Amino acid sequence: MKRRSFLSKSVKTGLAASVISQFPLFNVISRPLKSEKGLGIALVGLGNYSTNQLAPALQETKNCYLAGIVTGKYDKADSWIEKYSIPDKNVFDYTNFDDISENQDIDAVYIVLPNGLHAEYTIRGAEAGKHVICEKPMANNAADCKKMIDACKKAKKKLGIGYRLHYDPYNLEMMRLGQKEVYGKVTEIDAGFGFVLRNQDAWRMDKQLAGGGPLMDVGIYVLQGCIYTLGMLPESLVARDVTKEPDFYDDIEGTLEWELKFKSDVKVSCRTTYEDNYNYLKAQAEKGAFDIGPAYSYNGLKGNTPEGAMDFGNINQQAAQMDAYALHVLEGKELLVPGEMGWRDMFLIDRIYESAKTGKEVSLKGIPKILHKV
Ligand code: NAD
Repeated sequence: MKRRSFLSKSVKTGLAASVISQFPLFNVISRPLKSEKGLGIALVGLGNYSTNQLAPALQETKNCYLAGIVTGKYDKADSWIEKYSIPDKNVFDYTNFDDISENQDIDAVYIVLPNGLHAEYTIRGAEAGKHVICEKPMANNAADCKKMIDACKKAKKKLGIGYRLHYDPYNLEMMRLGQKEVYGKVTEIDAGFGFVLRNQDAWRMDKQLAGGGPLMDVGIYVLQGCIYTLGMLPESLVARDVTKEPDFYDDIEGTLEWELKFKSDVKVSCRTTYEDNYNYLKAQAEKGAFDIGPAYSYNGLKGNTPEGAMDFGNINQQAAQMDAYALHVLEGKELLVPGEMGWRDMFLIDRIYESAKTGKEVSLKGIPKILHKV
């Protein structure tokens, strides 16, 4: 196969239509690939999410395909090679990861490792000349997010975050109803996402690998949901650690609650936990309430408006998210979920932890200014 051409040229993009950002969008457009399969993606980390969601989704995508894998365990690789017909030369481990630079089938790496490894592998991926999709949360802290963005810019590679809900019709409807004030101004938002995690051996319970507790894992969706329903950035926040069993959740928080404060006087209450099960995003507007619940799942979402139930059916969120990323790389289409959005959310998460420690309200001055506007 001929070496694919990623010759790029700078273009003047200006502000994108639906992502409002203080950052000039990545001023690089790559030429379409010759391969009919589209963008070749290598999954880095073959755990639950790669195995059960991303690899199956890559069988449904139109603009990208599963070109390779990076895994620590070769016995795991065998079943993938067979199931997805992956050539041996497209299989890497964590020791020879950087050799991926020589591989011509793999255009982008998708980092699906524990959170604490996202920064390292994103930076190494970009330095190896690959575009990068990084799972949420983008890193363990905002400072690492900035390093990841800078590394991708320096390498002229495109960085996207695995925020699948920006492509989900129920969440998009929450954005439309809220941002367009379909039922008047939103006066209140109530949102929460949690599940019971009792496995002390899980990396999600290890501060170094997870960066924190449920806030990093699922509370990030709550944060996002409030922001995209309103289409505004918060100005300050106050958080409380209300862990029921602090002796059990000793390395990370068990439960957190926080309030986001906006320029408008909308009241926004959020919570996340590893001690209970809940999953909802509710908005009260001047002329009625609308909500989704489950709100953040892969499928089975349901929603209500003053005019009746939402009924959009299910889509494959991951396939939609990866196809959109592929078009961003191949055709320069605007990306709704760039690295800057992951950075914004880690900026907020850093401050939620700060406030939960001190109990004081913290200012969000300096928040990366990026929004998904519909
Ligand atoms: P997982 O534990 O099932 O998989 C993690 C993988 O990383 C495993 O294959 C493991 O072998 C590998 N790994 C490499 N180095 C490791 C180390 N030092 N310690 C532990 N594991 C190591 O986790 P997962 O649920 O697949 O989550 C992976 C990432 O994907 C996380 O960042 C998570 O937040 C994200 N995720 C996103 C979604 C979503 O809806 N977007 C859903 C699930 C997970």
